[in-house]
Amino acid sequence: MARSCDRRPAQDRGPSALALPVAPKGRGAEYAQVVASELPALYKLGIVGAGQVARMTHQAAVKLGFTPRLLAEDLHDSAALAAPDAVFSHPDALAAFAESCEVITFEHERLDLGLLQRLEDDGLVIRPGTRTIRAAFDKMHQRRVLLNRGFPVPVFSEVRGPDDLLDFAGIYGWPLVLKSVRSGTPDDRGAWVVENAQEALRVMSEQAGRQLMVEEYLAIVKELVLVLARRPGGSARCYPLVELSLDEGVIREIRCPAAVGHQVATQARELSLRLADELDSVGILAVELFLTTEGLVVNELAARPHNAGHGTIEGAPTSQFENHVRAVLDLPLGPTWATAPAIVTINVMGGLENIDPMVNLPEALSVEGAQIHLYGKQPRPGRKLGHVTAVGDDIAQARALARRAESALLGRRAW
Ligand code: ADP
Repeated sequence: MARSCDRRPAQDRGPSALALPVAPKGRGAEYAQVVASELPALYKLGIVGAGQVARMTHQAAVKLGFTPRLLAEDLHDSAALAAPDAVFSHPDALAAFAESCEVITFEHERLDLGLLQRLEDDGLVIRPGTRTIRAAFDKMHQRRVLLNRGFPVPVFSEVRGPDDLLDFAGIYGWPLVLKSVRSGTPDDRGAWVVENAQEALRVMSEQAGRQLMVEEYLAIVKELVLVLARRPGGSARCYPLVELSLDEGVIREIRCPAAVGHQVATQARELSLRLADELDSVGILAVELFLTTEGLVVNELAARPHNAGHGTIEGAPTSQFENHVRAVLDLPLGPTWATAPAIVTINVMGGLENIDPMVNLPEALSVEGAQIHLYGKQPRPGRKLGHVTAVGDDIAQARALARRAESALLGRRAW
């Protein structure tokens, strides 16, 4: 499937040229086949996936004058709702989709790596490339690569069955952390802290069918994320290190800057840049780190814009989404410094009451200074429906503002 050389140079097209018929509900697969044969010659940028990350990346690309094509899985995906041109996914759709775009990038890691590798070998431009995607996609592979290159990672092992787990527990004791080797959807949980064999076996049976691994339980002092953007060829820019608060393994709040000393911030930056070079990453690379009493440990990598970087929309001269677009299109990166002393982002999560935050938008917009982002998703308990960012002179001030807006969106009394 070599890229034909008589294609016109990429001219990004306006929405009118991209308008496609709407797929009948539940008929995405057939539709994809029809659409695949009717694709216009070339788009500058294609985004595989159409969740909130694609939605915000799409918005950043539009700002620069591009109209990316999206490979959505469903008509109701967050970005598909907001984009004039969304092709619905089908196992056969990715190759045709990639052929229609000058560059393709990704908002998730649920990908057929073999197919991507073939496309890359055929000369299609995939950014980040399969070397990076493989490391982000498969946590076992990621741990092995990092370990071999001398990066600090938790002790880990593959779990093929209960014996592997119990052997590991015999050496490292309880609690332990069970993890899914492959990432799921943004709303899927991928890690379980288990206190004993009974709990571990329960998680294993609940997650039957998912490949699992186990790792030592670390006493985490802080959870940190370093988001960086890197162009082909290696020029890179780091955003300030941020600190997370989580609830049941799900990010609730992101604070910038992280409350760590200069030394930890510098180490995080140097380690992440080295890692990006090792993987030859292009686009945004988010490096999730644990600060332990023994120093920094790499938890996870995401080769795409990350929840920890959502605050860069208001808190940096160039958002992570825009820098992702710039990087994958090999355009100059924009500055990444913090534009305020404190930036706090709070995720708006669906609660048991299933309140749609859109209903409370007027109240939330009355919280002056808070920036509201809603993803157009149907409310469901535990689902990320949006986020709120506030900037301020200090973390307490920014957090108070963001919390007031979040409470208003969820119909709760302000704190
Ligand atoms: P996910 O794929 O769900 O994001 P993570 O690997 O990021 O999974 O883990 C989710 C959370 O679980 C982490 O943010 C951390 O709070 C906790 N966790 C993960 N690994 C460990 C570990 N080795 N020791 C202690 N806690 C851990």
